[in-house]
Amino acid sequence: MQHNPPIIGLAGGIGSGKSTIANLFNDLGIQSVDADDVARETVAIGSDCLAEIHLRYGDDILLDDGSLNRGKLRGIVFNNSNERTWLEQLTHPAIRKQLLEQLRQATSHYVLMVHPLLFETGQNSQCRFTIAIDVPLSLQRLRVVNRDNTSEVDADKIIASQLSNDERLSKADFVLENTGNIIDLNGKVHRLHKEILELL
Ligand code: ADP
Repeated sequence: MQHNPPIIGLAGGIGSGKSTIANLFNDLGIQSVDADDVARETVAIGSDCLAEIHLRYGDDILLDDGSLNRGKLRGIVFNNSNERTWLEQLTHPAIRKQLLEQLRQATSHYVLMVHPLLFETGQNSQCRFTIAIDVPLSLQRLRVVNRDNTSEVDADKIIASQLSNDERLSKADFVLENTGNIIDLNGKVHRLHKEILELL
């Protein structure tokens, strides 16, 4: 059954706090769909996209259990724009369709579309309002390194492939600053939730 609640986009780069903030909205009864989760489902074992990827790159692109070797695929597309384009043309429409499908099924007052590339992919056009998470680069980098156990260089590569903090802020309707502690963040989420409810 489709409910079609208004979609509010939550945009932020890697490590900006999207999952943390989505959880705080979930505590207020607001459902969320994470584009990263949907992207993973799109290439899960048995999916059409994984079959196409297997056909193009051979058995080497799969792990022993038949799932996608993401590191290997990332390595291929990071250094080759043709392959990157091929992969994006295959997966982006599938992700988009599945994301919208899941958003439509939400039953809360509004639903969050949690997306690291909300503006980059133009999916902000499907949102009633958009929220950008505001974090300075140094803190974003620190949180990624601590969470993912990666090097600063690797964190910076991913950060550089996304919109800058300032560009994202300039495009969004609301800004959520995530530089304080979780209690502070929770207070900001409560206030923003109230403001959104009043506007809808
Ligand atoms: P994203 O989903 O945008 O990649 P996460 O929500 O996973 O980011 O946050 C990145 C890391 O920073 C996580 O380990 C998370 O626990 C931590 N984090 C996020 N916000 C805060 C905060 N306000 N205070 C302390 N740690 C935070």
